[in-house]
Amino acid sequence: MPYAEQKVTSLHRWSKSTFTFKTTRPDGFDFKNGEFVMLGLRPEGKLIPRAYSIVSTNQDNHLEFLSIQVPDGPLTSHLAKVDEGNSIWINTKTTGSLTLEHIQPGRHLYMLATGTGLAPFISLIRAGEVFKSFERVILVHTARIEQGLVYRDELTSRTGEQFLYVPTVTREPFETTDRGADLFRNGELSNKLNLPLPDPAQDRVMICGNPNMNKQMTEYLQNNGWTMTNYKGVGNFTVEQAFVLQS
Ligand SMILES: Cc1cc2nc3c(=O)[nH]c(=O)nc-3n(C[C@H](O)[C@H](O)[C@H](O)COP(=O)(O)OP(=O)(O)OC[C@H]3O[C@@H](n4cnc5c(N)ncnc54)[C@H](O)[C@@H]3O)c2cc1C
Repeated sequence: MPYAEQKVTSLHRWSKSTFTFKTTRPDGFDFKNGEFVMLGLRPEGKLIPRAYSIVSTNQDNHLEFLSIQVPDGPLTSHLAKVDEGNSIWINTKTTGSLTLEHIQPGRHLYMLATGTGLAPFISLIRAGEVFKSFERVILVHTARIEQGLVYRDELTSRTGEQFLYVPTVTREPFETTDRGADLFRNGELSNKLNLPLPDPAQDRVMICGNPNMNKQMTEYLQNNGWTMTNYKGVGNFTVEQAFVLQS
């Protein structure tokens, strides 16, 4: 697989365990908003590649990524220390199931994210096409601690008639301490936002979270009349892993 050597252009730390970094964009590198790409470093010569959702939009000249810092993580323990000007290797092939092509148009689009699973949704929201396909976009971002509510100021400033943002924090006191997926399933989200309950005939759901939340939400939606997008066709909900659990 072809990797292009690029340069890190900036790094912003949100908290001890989360940071955002920007890089140069390889010549001819094209992608759909919401996709992910493999990227990596060569701390000892050999490339350590990992999947990363692209936060920036396909209209930007640079690439932007949001990263966790896993203690002793093979990639992120090095990535968290990169400086402006350092090399980074970015694959030229992108993919993913959170693009507008993976969901039917509809009334309300629910984006459910945990942790760094927020990344692809930032790209979609910044790009704005999503607001042409849906009357309303509702983004629910769940983090363990308040500092994990990355991009909160930007998202808050984008809220309005068509965009609703619901941050939740599960392990610290906060205005909403429920998991986003629970709020969706028990109807409290609709209550809180004064919206009709999500309806598979009209509404759509995109999910990018930890393996547990993805599994629970997929089971819940499939048992309640929703159809997942897969190789057989485009459904009314679509799911991407925000990370995989290593055995
Ligand atoms: C489709 C896809 C898209 C991804 N997009 C992103 C992204 O945009 N940003 C990002 O930081 N990571 C993302 N990841 C995870 C990423 O690929 C790496 O796992 C992560 O960067 C850690 O790399 P590592 O080598 O340091 O540790 P790894 O050995 O890869 O991971 C060690 C362990 O850390 C935990 N972990 C890994 N990533 C995360 C995470 N993001 N949140 C919570 N726990 C985690 C898991 O328990 C994992 O088993 C994505 C993964 C997939 C499959």
